Amino acid sequence: MSEKTPLPTTGYFGPYGGRFVPETLMSALAQLQREYRAAMADESFCAEFDRCLREIAGRPSEMYLARRLTERSGGAKIYMKREDMNHTGAHKINNTLGQALLTLRMGKRRVIAETGAGQHGVATATAAAVFGLECEVYMGTEDIRRQALNVFRMELLGAHVAPVTTGQRTLKDACNEAMRDWMGSVEHTHYILGSVVGPAPFPEMVRQFQCCIGLESREQMLQLEGRLPDVIVACVGGGSNAAGIFSPMIDDESVEMVGVEAGGRSMGLGDHAASLVAGTPGVLHGAKSYVLQDSDGQTAPVHSVSAGLDYPGVGPEHAYWKDSGRVRYTTCSDDEALDAVCLLSRTEGIIPALESAHAVAEAIRIAAEMKPEQIILINLSGRGDKDCNEIADILKRRKEQA
Ligand SMILES: *Cc1c(COP(=O)(O)O)cnc(C)c1O
Repeated sequence: MSEKTPLPTTGYFGPYGGRFVPETLMSALAQLQREYRAAMADESFCAEFDRCLREIAGRPSEMYLARRLTERSGGAKIYMKREDMNHTGAHKINNTLGQALLTLRMGKRRVIAETGAGQHGVATATAAAVFGLECEVYMGTEDIRRQALNVFRMELLGAHVAPVTTGQRTLKDACNEAMRDWMGSVEHTHYILGSVVGPAPFPEMVRQFQCCIGLESREQMLQLEGRLPDVIVACVGGGSNAAGIFSPMIDDESVEMVGVEAGGRSMGLGDHAASLVAGTPGVLHGAKSYVLQDSDGQTAPVHSVSAGLDYPGVGPEHAYWKDSGRVRYTTCSDDEALDAVCLLSRTEGIIPALESAHAVAEAIRIAAEMKPEQIILINLSGRGDKDCNEIADILKRRKEQA
């Protein structure tokens, strides 16, 4: 499953990526890059990672034909890659297992992570528990308030949740605090970054640990349909689930790829989190990519109904794919995502994560305009149990307004 895809060697994807960090982190990142490259070339490491993906994450995940949704859309056949059925409920576990194994390989005993909704925090705490690592998760106090259940889960798993009270008290601020911790602890601590963002080698490494999604999809599609899908749709926050499903088929020119960002309440700055669609090139968290910023280069506040997409930056490889035209990026609003949650729940018996619902909404739009013999594949990145309180609140407000 961790079969090789070509690796860039420079840490750059065109003009994007790189390593914009203080001197103290340069040598740690260089060491991480060496260890990671050596690990990927080491058959026993790859075999151990594959075993973890099977036995802990529960892979391979199912390739599911959404029959009733297909019928309702009246166009292309709709398939879903069921990352929602992984242990801990999303694709995040693939990456945290890989990085936890790398932590052991480097002889480190402590891991730290940032988290927004708590999904990456839970996946990190889970991997830390499996391997007996000390674990500290940075989380904004605003997110701690909104995601009480995930805070409890992390603590139950033996992690310590460190409250972050700076800035908007959400994901970006948690990321800053985790970086700060790492600068003082890098000797014995590994920072498990949760998406294809940050300084090199994180974007490349996280994509590599997530590309089991696309490798499996490729094989499953060939087995089920004898060909690759015409379109693949994935939601984009930092971009890890999208990079994971896109990258193994990026050279298959017949496969069209669509990334869906959070369109939020409106396309005014501060009302959405669509870094690729509405942002400009800049540096955030150690890498150059598209960033939502004001005319002074200050990172802008962001909004999305889904905490996992609520981030003002995006992985540098997506910036590269956007500029080259290989992937088309678009947005889906809060309301459309919410409608997609309700629709998928009723037609297929699947309650998707609000993040994944962004991909579902766009896919339904596209499918309706395609022919019945065509195939569209949605990366269903996670399940929606975590969002049920939020969804209930919004549906209640909608009813009151009606
Ligand atoms: C975290 C999360 C995302 C967004 O992160 P990416 O790195 O863009 O994949 C999307 N879906 C789910 C279910 C998540 O938990």
